[in-house]
Amino acid sequence: MEIRGLTLNLAQLPVLADVDVVIAGGGTAGSVAGIAAAREGARALVVERYGALGGSGSLAQVSPLMSLKIPEKPEPSSINGLIKQRMMKLGLAAVDQNGQDGWFNSAMLPFMLDELIESFGCDVLYDTTVIGVVMHDEELRGLVVQTRGGGIGLIQSACVIDATGDALIAKLAGVKCFEGRESDGANQSVSLRFTLGGIDLAQLQSFLSDIGQSWGLGLPLLETASVWGHADVYPLEKIFRQGMKKGLIHYEDGKYFQAFTIPGMGAAMTFNCPEIPDMKQALDPFKTSRAYVTGRKMTARLHHFLKLMVPGFANSYLLSSGPMLGIRESRRVDAVYNLSLEDYLQCRKFKDGIAQTAYPIDIHGEEGVDYQEEDIPKGDFFEIPFRCLIPARTGRLLVAGRCIGASFAAQSAARIQPVCRATGEAAGIGAAWLARKYKPAAQRKHSATADLIKGSDIRARMIAHGGIFLKK
Ligand SMILES: Cc1cc2nc3c(=O)[nH]c(=O)nc-3n(C[C@H](O)[C@H](O)[C@H](O)COP(=O)(O)OP(=O)(O)OC[C@H]3O[C@@H](n4cnc5c(N)ncnc54)[C@H](O)[C@@H]3O)c2cc1C
Repeated sequence: MEIRGLTLNLAQLPVLADVDVVIAGGGTAGSVAGIAAAREGARALVVERYGALGGSGSLAQVSPLMSLKIPEKPEPSSINGLIKQRMMKLGLAAVDQNGQDGWFNSAMLPFMLDELIESFGCDVLYDTTVIGVVMHDEELRGLVVQTRGGGIGLIQSACVIDATGDALIAKLAGVKCFEGRESDGANQSVSLRFTLGGIDLAQLQSFLSDIGQSWGLGLPLLETASVWGHADVYPLEKIFRQGMKKGLIHYEDGKYFQAFTIPGMGAAMTFNCPEIPDMKQALDPFKTSRAYVTGRKMTARLHHFLKLMVPGFANSYLLSSGPMLGIRESRRVDAVYNLSLEDYLQCRKFKDGIAQTAYPIDIHGEEGVDYQEEDIPKGDFFEIPFRCLIPARTGRLLVAGRCIGASFAAQSAARIQPVCRATGEAAGIGAAWLARKYKPAAQRKHSATADLIKGSDIRARMIAHGGIFLKK
């Protein structure tokens, strides 16, 4: 037997690009990392397997940005601020009555990111999947990629950022990684989000108010939700029970239901569901494939139920079902510092803190441990140190987004988009600086990464760019 079609002899692979910083994954963190690296003067290239930037925020339709839950509202990532401002100006983002400024339009996010990344001079290679890494002496020297049409080539770089969400680059490089819950490796539940159009929002608002929903009723920024057994907070649950009795929906369909209107999209809502039952293996190719099919069946049932039983949805139609599965957590790197539950509970601050948040532990699919907002004192917050972005033993590699070094529980509090963007910005700055330092000393040893760049300097640089950090 022989393998045909794959040329993996390093000397024979065509060099597609030679850059200072290559970013694997153009999602929430990766697109910001590309902008940040280019802003530091690096020749930066983002490699994205799909045809749009934004990752979970665009292709998995995750909107709105969750709030950092800090009343003084820090904004560590100036690039996050810039994206929000630009979208706000065009009516594609909005602030609600409670001051939550994370509402945005997922469909338009790629347009905004294309424009922004281009304006900072960062290149993007779409429809290109990273399939391997080039190593020298435990240091990353580039990526092996498969481009559209199946060609395999090499991207040489002085430094790599792993923003794949799955810590794929770290895994390929041999970095120790963690998967799922410490006790049994189970990942958080996955969801396949969808968007409906043609909703009569005024009718829906009046219905929700009539059944006793007392929150989220502002228009045009309307939201609703239902969770079994919580009809006191989510009165819609009663309608879900009736729907189940009539056989319109199954128990799993109503386990976690949430919907938000979308700035700039009129009569549409984005749904943070369905959550796929018994699906705790976010890295299993057959199970994730099945999750799309199950998710689409659940979506069809939910939509039919809404049309028949919830006023406002009678003439609604499916605009889209997420082309990308919503993965909350899959694989995390073993970093120089791994964020812990204690860091969250104790509201720890760090000299090299590059993100600040008080977002709670939010573990989907784990009964009784899920959303615990009351854990930390109101007004206080914890920080994520830059060291969580540095893999423990591999050089020229930084990690950004949901796969940074953290325990299963701590990751659940650090995975929201504003935090992922802050890690992306920090990694972009760090990688650009590393690339500059490595150039005159090509043989420098990987063990020096944490000494070569100081996280406190990265934080200072983020502030110099307009990032807002609260005093500790
Ligand atoms: C269902 C769900 C609901 C959520 N709700 C909220 C919410 O309401 N608000 C909030 O703020 N956060 C929410 N989150 C969390 C947040 O959306 C994610 O944690 C965050 O977007 C992850 O960012 P990331 O950059 O790490 O990964 P992603 O944004 O997923 O980006 C990873 C990118 O890497 C690319 N990639 C992967 N492998 C390769 C490869 N081999 N080659 C090339 N490219 C590759 C992917 O295509 C993707 O574009 C939710 C998450 C989920 C799944």
